[in-house]
Amino acid sequence: MQLPVGFLAAVIIAFLAYRVRSLSRSGAAAAVVVGTLIFGLGGWQWAVILLSFFISSSILTRLFKKRKAEVDEKFSKGGQRDASQVLANGGIAALIAALHAIFPAAPWTWWAFAAAMAAVNADTWATELGVLNPHPPRLITNGQAVDRGTSGAISLYGTLAALGGSSLVALLAVSIAPFPSSWVSFAMVTLAGLLGALFDSFLGATVQSIYQCPACNKETERYPTHLCGTPTTPLRGWKWLDNDLVNLACAISGAGFVFLFTWVFL
Ligand SMILES: [Zn+2]
Repeated sequence: MQLPVGFLAAVIIAFLAYRVRSLSRSGAAAAVVVGTLIFGLGGWQWAVILLSFFISSSILTRLFKKRKAEVDEKFSKGGQRDASQVLANGGIAALIAALHAIFPAAPWTWWAFAAAMAAVNADTWATELGVLNPHPPRLITNGQAVDRGTSGAISLYGTLAALGGSSLVALLAVSIAPFPSSWVSFAMVTLAGLLGALFDSFLGATVQSIYQCPACNKETERYPTHLCGTPTTPLRGWKWLDNDLVNLACAISGAGFVFLFTWVFL
């Protein structure tokens, strides 16, 4: 019974998001699949966590448009999320919801789900709000100051935004948890989400495929062409590891950190 309701809710929300251009057509289709699985197999609590990510990140993408215009040439895609972006951010969460359907009494699925969502929320908040940092960001690997929007660069505002995005999901996850929870659960999910976002930056600074625009002489994630229309050339990183796969790794690492903490501390 829950699956058809989940499907209906997912269709309505994906359609609305498509209409306000938060999702592309393919992104809306992927969101229906992800939303149906999470709501239908998890339950309303799972849907609340998914929606907190989806709504807050869609709003943040729309804010400060002017300030973000200067970094738009760096990001691989625009504000409208497509299918691979949706699956990168929500695919692991949907998979964990399926695991929950198999192991309904296991609390770990809930915390792994919450941490995966905390990580992608932290990363999205950091990306959207980090550009407001008054000073240029620094590479997470060597501290070198770089252009705003550079992959793997972190800033004070971005890191605080990541902490905010992570703790919002953690707070909700603890408040509506279908399992016993405590401030330890809150701290674990918050930290796992923050570390997931930092792991995303680390991959961005090291192995993510980064290109160069020969016309603008700028680093960018955009491939095969820059925003200016010039074909971009590989600069560094593994060619197959694009931004979507890095976001997927961010979600997986968020869930992974929760398992690690549980194993080490509990
Ligand atoms: Zn260019």
